[in-house]
Amino acid sequence: MITDKIFFWVLPVMYGVFTAVFVTLARSEGGTSSAKKGAAAFGMGMLAIILDTQRHLFPHWFFTMAVPLHWLVLWYTSDAFLARHGDKTPVKPAATLFAIGLAINLYATFIVDSVAIRVPNASIVAIAILTLALPGFVKNRAKRLDKVTAFVVAMCWLCYLVRFAFYFTLDQSGEYARTSQWSQYMMIFYFSSAIFALSLAFLLMMAITSDMVARHFVAATVDPLTGVANRRGFERMLDESQEILPFHSVLMVDLDHFKQVNDTHGHGIGDGVLVAVSQTLISCCKGLGEVVRFGGEEFVVLLRPGERHAVLQVAELLRTAVAATRLGAPHHHLQVTASVGVAVLDPDEDVDDAIRRADRALYRAKENGRNRVVFAEAGSVNLNPVAAIPA
Ligand code: GH3
Ligand code: MG
Ligand code: MG
Repeated sequence: MITDKIFFWVLPVMYGVFTAVFVTLARSEGGTSSAKKGAAAFGMGMLAIILDTQRHLFPHWFFTMAVPLHWLVLWYTSDAFLARHGDKTPVKPAATLFAIGLAINLYATFIVDSVAIRVPNASIVAIAILTLALPGFVKNRAKRLDKVTAFVVAMCWLCYLVRFAFYFTLDQSGEYARTSQWSQYMMIFYFSSAIFALSLAFLLMMAITSDMVARHFVAATVDPLTGVANRRGFERMLDESQEILPFHSVLMVDLDHFKQVNDTHGHGIGDGVLVAVSQTLISCCKGLGEVVRFGGEEFVVLLRPGERHAVLQVAELLRTAVAATRLGAPHHHLQVTASVGVAVLDPDEDVDDAIRRADRALYRAKENGRNRVVFAEAGSVNLNPVAAIPA
């Protein structure tokens, strides 16, 4: 039929277009192994379909390579998705299955020439490879896209099972591909494969691009030196916190005489101090709130309500922890201190106003000799509202 002929060229062209898309994604900035695996999978898929459906173009035995290519397509497609979660199809079992399946496939082509072995063998290995990959999809379902993907892969697995069962309802005596039942079976196979390939290609493109967006988002909101949120991350945090959990208090932490550290030890050591201080602040604030690198050597700590510590104690803890922070040898003698300005948010005050008050308190801490904690004047009535510390 002429429509079959067109269909059998549309499929490889479609796979070719997807291959090109994934090659482009793989070569673009931040190209991932997902895109590389996707390109390999669709490239092999294209070849497999051409080998299988355009048999007159090749020596008669070439078509037999379509089946192992098909297995590789399933393997690589699964891994393209799983790579996003640092996961993959278990290599040893999959490779063993592939090798056994290949041996049986070659035997059933060159030694006995048996469709009755070749076709079930093709299905069994395909099902087994998908069975190996499926747990990875079930395990990594954090986002909606992952859930949809896991569902599509599970459906694909089910489809292989149904096709496998359906094969045995065929008249086995009929000569391969000559009976109408057989050609129907093959058309169902190609159509369902095309639908799954199309769905998975779109899902993979969406997954790769959403990963790229997520990476850019991190790059824009996280300070690359210290790994804590930067000012944009801070603004984002405020946007999010308005709906969920407002912050209770603001601590401005500024390193004392930091310019001298740079002047005396060099900018590189200064950077090392900033990294070490950030880590100190993060470990002190775990579960209590968020740390932001607000500017050069200035950090803002946002404390959430409900923590068991009083604000005063947290501020003192941060101050002493910074003073105790050391770099590795040979700079382990280098010590920095920090001044801290603290503002507890008034009931109707926004965080920006509290930051301004904390900043003024910080200024006073500097004036009063540094390495100390000063509370902001207004709003300081509410110093201990979350202090649930047992006496
Ligand atoms: P004070 O106690 O009054 O805060 O004095 P200070 O020297 O800490 O304050 P000042 O604002 O005069 O200097 C801040 C210094 O922080 C100047 C700048 O070189 C340094 N700095 C800002 N960002 C970075 C950075 O990313 N790396 C390094 N190494 N230094 C930085
Ligand atoms: Mg400073
Ligand atoms: Mg400063």
